[in-house]
Amino acid sequence: MSAEGYKGRVITISAPSGAGKTSLVRAMVESDPGLAVSISHTTRMQRPGEQNGINYHFVDTDTFIRMRDNQELVEWAKVFDNFYGTSRQQVDAIQQSGKDVILEIDWQGARQMRQCQPDTCSIFILPPSRAALRDRLTGRGQDGAEVIDKRMSEATSEMSHYPEADYIVMNDNFDTALADLQAIVRAMRLEKASQGARLASTLRALVAD
Ligand code: GDP
Ligand code: ADP
Ligand code: 5GP
Repeated sequence: MSAEGYKGRVITISAPSGAGKTSLVRAMVESDPGLAVSISHTTRMQRPGEQNGINYHFVDTDTFIRMRDNQELVEWAKVFDNFYGTSRQQVDAIQQSGKDVILEIDWQGARQMRQCQPDTCSIFILPPSRAALRDRLTGRGQDGAEVIDKRMSEATSEMSHYPEADYIVMNDNFDTALADLQAIVRAMRLEKASQGARLASTLRALVAD
């Protein structure tokens, strides 16, 4: 099968903090060599166990503002009082390599990506209940009580944007949610526009006189 002309698609994954998006995205990428994750830039503090350049590119506010003003970010937003943004160069490079690129970004970023790349596939991951969300934030053991309270109150406003997404995945059972995400990616790749680019010469030959 020829991959001629196929440019990877952007897939945005949004969710309230603690809904499981990082764990699910990691499992998706491990199971699919055609996917890559964009590593965001952020001004938030590095958590214990996080690695610069692996989880995020941790930068100071001056650096972030400079990147933003130099148009180096394809999207950016302020979330929980910190700046988060996606490197344009990184997303371009992944797409040009023919891989689909996952952006774990908030609703504001997903909206910007849909504007600049209308064929963006946007997914919202939701927890089964507010109680489950709090349990996961607490169980992850990476944030203090004050931060968790703040993230719980922000969760309501983040979750209120679920109707903007193309797909909604409920992360109750992890394996079911993972299978749902994999099904979305598979269906996205079978869309006419993607198949048309991937199979151009075969399709031309099939309908030639
Ligand atoms: P976590 O969601 O608990 O892992 O906390 P983080 O501090 O890693 O992320 C907080 C929020 O920032 C989440 O809602 C992410 O979707 C969002 N976020 C992360 N990276 C980006 C980015 O590059 N752009 C935008 N717009 N949002 C981002
Ligand atoms: P996010 O990136 O959305 O903030 P994480 O992937 O860090 O979320 O997940 C938050 C916590 O919830 C982690 O400790 C993770 O192990 C746990 N978790 C994820 N999915 C499930 C699930 N389906 N059931 C129970 N716990 C889960
Ligand atoms: P990983 O992505 O490395 O498999 O998982 C990251 C975290 O998510 C780990 O703490 C793991 O225990 C948790 N996790 C993954 N799947 C499930 C699940 O189905 N149920 C629960 N309770 N936790 C899960």
